[in-house]
Amino acid sequence: MVHALFDPALLVAALLLEPQGVIAVFVFAVIVSCTPLFGPPPAPLSGWLDSVSLAVFALNSGILALVARALERLSHVRGELDVLGRANAEQLSHFIEQAPAAMAMFDRDMRYLAASARWRDDFHLTRDIVGKSHYDVFPEIGDAWKADHAAALAGETVRSDRDYFERADGERLWLRWEVRPWLRPGDGVGGVLMFCEDISERVAIRQALEDNERRLKAILDSAMEAIVTIDAQGKMISANPAACEMFGYALPELMGQNVDLLMPGPVHGEHSRYLSAYARNRETRVVGRRRVIEGRRKDGSSFPLELTVSEAKDNGGAIFVGFMRDLSPIEEEKRRVNALRDELVHVGRINDMGEVVASLAHEVGQPIAAILNFSAAHRRTGAGAAGEVDIVARIEAQARRAGEILKRLRGFIEKRPEMRKKEDLAELILEALDLSPLRSRAHIAFAPDHGFDVVVDRIQIEQVMVNLLQNADEALRAADDPEIRITLARPDAERISVSVADNGPGVEPEAREKLFSAFYSTKRFGMGVGLSISRSIVEAHGGEIRYRANAPHGAVFEFTLPAPGAQP
Ligand code: ADP
Repeated sequence: MVHALFDPALLVAALLLEPQGVIAVFVFAVIVSCTPLFGPPPAPLSGWLDSVSLAVFALNSGILALVARALERLSHVRGELDVLGRANAEQLSHFIEQAPAAMAMFDRDMRYLAASARWRDDFHLTRDIVGKSHYDVFPEIGDAWKADHAAALAGETVRSDRDYFERADGERLWLRWEVRPWLRPGDGVGGVLMFCEDISERVAIRQALEDNERRLKAILDSAMEAIVTIDAQGKMISANPAACEMFGYALPELMGQNVDLLMPGPVHGEHSRYLSAYARNRETRVVGRRRVIEGRRKDGSSFPLELTVSEAKDNGGAIFVGFMRDLSPIEEEKRRVNALRDELVHVGRINDMGEVVASLAHEVGQPIAAILNFSAAHRRTGAGAAGEVDIVARIEAQARRAGEILKRLRGFIEKRPEMRKKEDLAELILEALDLSPLRSRAHIAFAPDHGFDVVVDRIQIEQVMVNLLQNADEALRAADDPEIRITLARPDAERISVSVADNGPGVEPEAREKLFSAFYSTKRFGMGVGLSISRSIVEAHGGEIRYRANAPHGAVFEFTLPAPGAQP
């Protein structure tokens, strides 16, 4: 009977203790039930049966207790798993929420499971989209995208780097997107994950860049100037059609080649020096300056070109843009104008000849008269007479003088190419005076100062002087006390001036503007080209010629010439 007391104790022990404790209680129960202290020992059979039933009961109780504990453990573990699962789901949705990209997770029916804050911001959505269908949220989604979603749900990953999306509210977006399936362990595709990037701004910038590039290309292609871009090593990186045409190359023949290809040998060294000066200390002596250099065409011919270089930065490195203009047509035109001018100058001289010859006839007449006199004296005295040698020497001297005068005259008239060299201006003026004996018998006031050197074509400046002197002579024909004053001066370090002043009637104010125009003349037989040719000669030498009234009356014509060393 006593052992029956232990059944509840065993049950409690099984629930509260570990299996070892239950066994200990059971062993204790058996010992106690067999001890006389707790009553008569059981009869052999009944006692045996009693012990067996006790053992079975105890075993049952133990098993029950173990099952109960196992169940309790199980519920504990499930609780823990639930907590873990909740935490994982929270973490996942937190991760999606915080993702720096626009992303969303959908189930198999394209219902939102989660969406990042960026997704909601980019598409102006509220938090309550979870559980809603993607196609209800975006009714504007077309069939093409629905087909992509279906492909992703079938296990495929679909993406696009640039796709256009027009929202129902009219907003236009450029998107980069990717849709990929997510898998449920053991259950296949659970839905899709969608990543989306709004690249509208980037597309707009790119579009603007492309537009700019197109515009720039159109400008370069239509530019009349040749434009070539080189890197800091002198390699050509671009050339416009005008450049290809100017040098006779096709574009691929120029790309990557050194720009030396476009210049004749002697310019190479100079060009490499500029580039190495830049590489050394970023010195850009040629940048921004307009220079005239020689270019070389593909056929090897050289031509003058005007080059302006500008520097630009490209990805941190420097590039140089050269703008070139072919000067050969301009040079050709210059040559033509110069030839015409020379022709005109010559015609002008021939025109002056009428006057000059008339004046010189008088001068040449003198030695000829002397020759005739000496010859008559020689005839009178006869050959071999005393003094014959002297007479012949005089004849020779006079003949030489007449020859000199005619030589000067011929030199003045003959057509010859322009030839500039250093000349003593005073000397040149004396020679011009020799060439223009004056009919007005005007007094010439000229103190030849030999300190004025000029680099000129002597005959041409003499022509200017002859013209001014003859005009003055003409203006003084009726004057009472005719005088021509020639003055040399140096108005500044750059210029030397010559003025020819007379005390004639001067030029009427209304005629002054026309003075230097071709064919303006107030003379009966005048051609009116003298002053216009004089101006073109003076200007070609880098000087100026102008008129001013003399006081109290008369005309002053003053012209300047560059002092040697001064830039014309
Ligand atoms: P032309 O001597 O054949 O007339 P120019 O060109 O040398 O041609 O001179 C143009 C005109 O300028 C002259 O016809 C004259 O009216 C005026 N002129 C030139 N020099 C003088 C001067 N020293 N005094 C007054 N008038 C002058």
